[in-house]
Amino acid sequence: MTSRKDELAARLEQVRGRIDRAAAGRPGAAPELIVVTKYFPASDVAALAELGVRDVGENRDQEAAAKAAELAAESAAVGLRWHFIGQLQTNKAKSVVRYAHAVHSVDRPQLVAALSKAVAAEQERRRAAGAPARADLLCLIQVDLDDRPAEARPAGKGRGGAEPEQIGTLAGMIEQAQGLVLGGLMAVAPLGADPAEAFGRLAGFSARLLRSHPDARMLSAGMSQDLEAAVAAGATHLRVGSDVLGDRPALG
Ligand SMILES: *Cc1c(COP(=O)(O)O)cnc(C)c1O
Repeated sequence: MTSRKDELAARLEQVRGRIDRAAAGRPGAAPELIVVTKYFPASDVAALAELGVRDVGENRDQEAAAKAAELAAESAAVGLRWHFIGQLQTNKAKSVVRYAHAVHSVDRPQLVAALSKAVAAEQERRRAAGAPARADLLCLIQVDLDDRPAEARPAGKGRGGAEPEQIGTLAGMIEQAQGLVLGGLMAVAPLGADPAEAFGRLAGFSARLLRSHPDARMLSAGMSQDLEAAVAAGATHLRVGSDVLGDRPALG
């Protein structure tokens, strides 16, 4: 029987091969892979770290905080970075900044304010504990690429992300906020829409953002199903879950 680590290694290699083929001939740096480990145990994250993965993504604070705490020693030893990619309530900001390197899902002014305040409190907590300061929190603005009216969207799909018109305002707020750094933009291709078209629009928003914020180069787009389209559109960071870890266990 193959071990879980062997299985992860094989799937990881396949995904890395897809990324390399998609990026062949593309100008600029190769896209970074963030392995989305949500619903999978900390032991899988540890195995991935042993296989060379340095960036993992999580979408629920409770689950991410528990895994990050369990793997604190391993994380520190190899420099594992935790990316928060899910919808985030302001009352979870304080917890998220304890472990997160980046938040990809900044979508409203209240969340910018909450994250900035939380980073300040976290620095104070670390100072008091004699622990080293954390780095500024990397923030990506999540953009809602679904331009269909609410009634035309697939049922049950909650809104994720800011309207494109809000990008400039949010970018300015993040840049002004203490303890936060503007990384760039993030999006999920709308269900049932053409990902190439959606990511093409995202690339346009990114180009516009770069004119006023030239360091905000990150473009976090592309999942298991559509990573090739995202790479073609210029994604710098891919968030791949099921094609590395397997089908997610059903949610209870
Ligand atoms: C779960 C998730 C992913 C990974 O999706 P897969 O289809 O499993 O690759 C990427 N981005 C976000 C925001 C997610 O919630």
